[in-house]
Amino acid sequence: MRYEGTLYRPPSEADSYIVQATLGCSWNACVYCDMYRTKSFRVRPLAETLADITLAGQVLRGRVRKVFVADGDALILDLDHWLPILDAAREKLGPLSRVSCYATARNVLEKSDAELETLVRHGLTRLYIGPESGDDVTLKRIAKGATHAEHVEAARKAHAAGMELSVIALLGAGGVERSEVHAERTAELVTAMDPAFFAALSLTVVPGTPLAKLQDRGAFVLPDVPGLLRELRTLVAHARPTDALFRTNHASNHLPLAGRLPRDGQRMASLIDAALAGAVRLRPEHLRGL
Ligand code: SF4
Repeated sequence: MRYEGTLYRPPSEADSYIVQATLGCSWNACVYCDMYRTKSFRVRPLAETLADITLAGQVLRGRVRKVFVADGDALILDLDHWLPILDAAREKLGPLSRVSCYATARNVLEKSDAELETLVRHGLTRLYIGPESGDDVTLKRIAKGATHAEHVEAARKAHAAGMELSVIALLGAGGVERSEVHAERTAELVTAMDPAFFAALSLTVVPGTPLAKLQDRGAFVLPDVPGLLRELRTLVAHARPTDALFRTNHASNHLPLAGRLPRDGQRMASLIDAALAGAVRLRPEHLRGL
């Protein structure tokens, strides 16, 4: 199994076999992201990817149930890449409970309904999408590449094809200036995208990113910890997906929460209120990560 550069995968794919079918992110423009800045996007030759899966099968057959296809927006692959990869994964690794990948709204919108349905039939059943914000002003400022409405449409298409969605929001993405509206519109977007899984991460300004340059010249101010917690409170109190598993267990967050939304929204809001009042210990700064 050959990997190039740092691999990123969602926490829920910790025990998945990761196949690196693409390198980097085809978009690679979000102002806060430094994950693939040093990698030029390219699709790995199909023969190389299939050889990796064959090799993985010799070692892992029957021992992995999930496959995650990397890197940053692997859904961009055409079906003439996807289908051999999905078929080989099942054939070489044995029965799988799912195959998943990161996707942008743009990746989903660029696929036809028939293509998405074909992908599901061949095993790609979960997409991780990070709109980060539901606020169009924030989405434009962070260069996410799609609007609130486009994310809703991407979710509708993915659901219609039978895909399961995991949606990621980014606390602090709107800065102090858009903090409240960012949280409110993100709660609305999550309601409209109606994912089965929802996670919130906290923004860290990474040196060298365009966002760091904006911060240096005072054009972006990250909310303080109470500000981030207030955004989190808005999300849990106002997001109304049908029934989503919600987590803030990512290392970037100050307050790990877990529950179902909307069922546990008020319980989690009360916990956040207690944290804001100083009655709940927050994750110490030195234990936080990106
Ligand atoms: S789409 Fe994802 S991986 Fe690509 S630049 Fe944006 S945050 Fe980074």
